[in-house]
Amino acid sequence: TIGLLALDEFGNLSGACTTSGMAYKLHGRVGDSPIIGAGLFVDNEVGAACATGVGEAVIRVAGSAIVVELMRNGMSPNEACKEAVDRVIKKHKDVTDLQVGFIALNRNGEYGGYSVYSGFNYAVRSTTQNELIDAQYNRE
Ligand code: ASP
Repeated sequence: TIGLLALDEFGNLSGACTTSGMAYKLHGRVGDSPIIGAGLFVDNEVGAACATGVGEAVIRVAGSAIVVELMRNGMSPNEACKEAVDRVIKKHKDVTDLQVGFIALNRNGEYGGYSVYSGFNYAVRSTTQNELIDAQYNRE
């Protein structure tokens, strides 16, 4: 998945994501990326979130919608992404090697990212910043 979240000079949020899906997917499979609330969710009053990884696991927790809802309830983008990752892990206790990651941005321009496993990074670009950041993660 390539996910993009943006905040413009007027305070408007937007987001987009695109994906090639999963390797060896069944014909007709729909992952999380085209489903608003799963792979992507933007609420201009709160923030925006985007997911990558195993789409079925993201859909099961309504991942990006949950991240935005947690930010609405006061969590920072990073805390919200971590909580969504924790929910994915909780629902897939017996599954190994299941990678899911989230990025999030709120109306104040604060951002975060979190994944199940290490190796997930995201880029931040603004008038003052141009940085590649290793997301925090739950497991090595
Ligand atoms: N989330 C995508 C899917 O399940 C895979 C990806 O990360 O590109 O279709």
